[in-house]
Amino acid sequence: MTISSSQSDRAGHAVSSLEGADSLFARLGLDRDARVSLTQRQGPQWAMTENPSTGQPLAWVRLDEAADFERQASEAVASFKAWRTVPAPSRGLVVRAIGDAFRRHKADLGELISLEVGKIRSEGQGEIQEIVDIADFAVGLSRQLPGLTLPSERAGHRLIEQWLPLGVVGVISAFNFPAAVWAWNACLAAVSGDVTIWKPSLLAPLTAIACNRIADEVATSMGHPGVFRLVIGTDQEVGERMIADRRLPLISATGSCRMGRRVGQVVAQRLGRSLLELGGNNACIVHEDADLDLALASTVFGAVGTAGQRCTTTRRLFVHEKVAPAFIARLVKAYRSLSTRIGDPRDEATLIGPLINAQAVKQFEHAVSAARQQGGRVLVGGGRATTNALGHFVEPTLIVAPDAPGSALPIADEETFAPILYVFTYRSLDDAIERQNAVDQGLSSSIFTESMRVSERFLSPAGNGSDCGIANVNCGTSGAEIGGAFGGEKDTGGGRESGSDSWKAYMRRQTCTINFSGKLELAQGIRFE
Ligand code: NAD
Repeated sequence: MTISSSQSDRAGHAVSSLEGADSLFARLGLDRDARVSLTQRQGPQWAMTENPSTGQPLAWVRLDEAADFERQASEAVASFKAWRTVPAPSRGLVVRAIGDAFRRHKADLGELISLEVGKIRSEGQGEIQEIVDIADFAVGLSRQLPGLTLPSERAGHRLIEQWLPLGVVGVISAFNFPAAVWAWNACLAAVSGDVTIWKPSLLAPLTAIACNRIADEVATSMGHPGVFRLVIGTDQEVGERMIADRRLPLISATGSCRMGRRVGQVVAQRLGRSLLELGGNNACIVHEDADLDLALASTVFGAVGTAGQRCTTTRRLFVHEKVAPAFIARLVKAYRSLSTRIGDPRDEATLIGPLINAQAVKQFEHAVSAARQQGGRVLVGGGRATTNALGHFVEPTLIVAPDAPGSALPIADEETFAPILYVFTYRSLDDAIERQNAVDQGLSSSIFTESMRVSERFLSPAGNGSDCGIANVNCGTSGAEIGGAFGGEKDTGGGRESGSDSWKAYMRRQTCTINFSGKLELAQGIRFE
């Protein structure tokens, strides 16, 4: 697969030599943004953002410093005081207009995501579709945000719960969902009456600038400036300040378990609220009665899609021993057929784009070598992909675990952010579920079966089935609709975002007792006379 070789050299100037990129930047307002430079900048206040398909610079982005964060935080508090007084349905109208703006910019933003993080075209666009979807969801919510009326034990009293705006929400996002994760937070926060300050990954600042710009321009044009804010800086200078800042009652952080441990501790120390969406090590079980065609297609997408860089990527596969030989043979064939589909993510024929950077390739190589040392057998892949480009491409890799009791393959217990699938076989369903659950993370899981009993065992109401936040039947681990609550257990952090009642994280609950009896009556029958 050939990748366009017309990009600039690293030391020279910019991306604008990349075919069509300069007009893309202009359509998204990036060429007019004071933070963005298309010519090389040096010094600690500038970060280079790279196209992972070419290893070449896309642009240089000016980093915020402590004083910039301080200004944003104090202005955000003022913006919040105004925004919370706007009725929720009117806040919803602003989010509706933002959703419409993202509809209009879907193709351009999707392309920017392909350039900056290497997602294939349909996945880049799919990510912007998630923004449109969550905006629609939030608009509906803006006319609900329902509280409860509860029966009071005291005559002539009313007991209610109401939900109130929370404050300034800090949003920290990972590189692999450079737009949607922010929108999940920002749209719900906005209808809840909150202001967001977004700190994106330094691996994807252009997408953040473009997205925040759209939201801010729409809100400002409707008379509400400052509701959507952006700070771009290093973890030391900006990230640490943000998580320690008491003016931000909620920090919603998406990223690695390592990051979540740090954020969780700092926020807990100031008794703030954190919403953590962290790493996954997701498994798929293929039972003996599974529809193998369906299981095959779902496993391949789950393991290889987004080049294995989704939190919900399928990383471990448990196949029943009766179907294992045939199923693994089909997997091998499917993986081999992918070798011609690796390349430029903007090419319609491509299914597998690059890893995010050179370090990610090294981590991939380390995991493959560890798996070999631990007795794993590489059936397909295992190395860098051969393309004509200088980007960070690796081969989709299938590794069978050693056939030993307990199948010791410790590397499979770790999340390596790359397209590596470790394959195990099992005899009993209970064993498969136990081994699926035997990792630190608890994000997504799935089983393929035609049996109602097997499916119900996996989803058992006793809680002894899958221990993950997401448990699917005949549907792979990767990807989710916005309507359900998204998140995972154990080291995945326990947070829930997006649909269902996730909005409650962005509001504070108030319990109110209204006495219309004209008499003092104390709860629990206490007398004080
Ligand atoms: P990362 O942990 O390296 O970085 C994530 C974000 O945290 C970045 O914005 C980074 O700058 C910030 N950060 C790191 N240390 C910080 C600190 N001390 N203070 C404040 N901010 C800090 O993760 P990544 O490599 O960008 O993303 C990949 C990881 O994210 C994977 O583990 C993946 O599973 C996870 N992820 C989880 C979900 C989910 O919803 N569960 C979604 C996407 C990605």
